[in-house]
Amino acid sequence: MHDDDHDHHHHHDNRYTDMQARVRALETVLTEKGLIDPAAIDVIVETYETKVGPRNGARVVAKAWSDLEFADWLRQDATAAIASLGYAGRQGEHMRAVFNTDDTHNLVVCTLCSCYPWSVLGLPPVWYKAPAYRSRAVIDPRGVLAEFGVTLPESKKIRVWDSTAELRYLVVPERPNGTDGWSEERLADLVSRDAMIGTGLAAVPENAR
Ligand code: FE
Repeated sequence: MHDDDHDHHHHHDNRYTDMQARVRALETVLTEKGLIDPAAIDVIVETYETKVGPRNGARVVAKAWSDLEFADWLRQDATAAIASLGYAGRQGEHMRAVFNTDDTHNLVVCTLCSCYPWSVLGLPPVWYKAPAYRSRAVIDPRGVLAEFGVTLPESKKIRVWDSTAELRYLVVPERPNGTDGWSEERLADLVSRDAMIGTGLAAVPENAR
């Protein structure tokens, strides 16, 4: 469905444009005939953007929080570690996991177009593809984070990672306090899509607030 993250490969452009045009034409015909409700399509797209896709990444993060050996593997060879859970890039792009720490926060962008770790996060949000995010994430990452409601201490460094068609990044947020002994499934519920792009943090459980 989302293919404009491969704009680096210009030989693909026509094919994807044709495909998108056909999908749009089909959607229009079906809507005009009363066979589908555009609102229903929006709900499906929204589900893939915010739930189905990012759940894969959340499982990767939860496993890294729970299993130090897996965390090491993820740090050294994210492509293989992520593939071991069944999530692989469709065009062989490589993954790199960047870990938030006490002194460093990581933020992911694609300044050139909209390269995105779709195998672990699903469809990119609209803002990720917007020129404003793509330029400002590099120039003023702290300001961008503030707009997402994330205020970090001045002492914390922000590293910005620029994705490409060949290399995509997954942010591993810091594990929140108050989650000792939690199962991976329960931990995964704390990990949002935005936390894995770096525009958010892992949710803090109520008992630790
Ligand atoms: Fe890109």
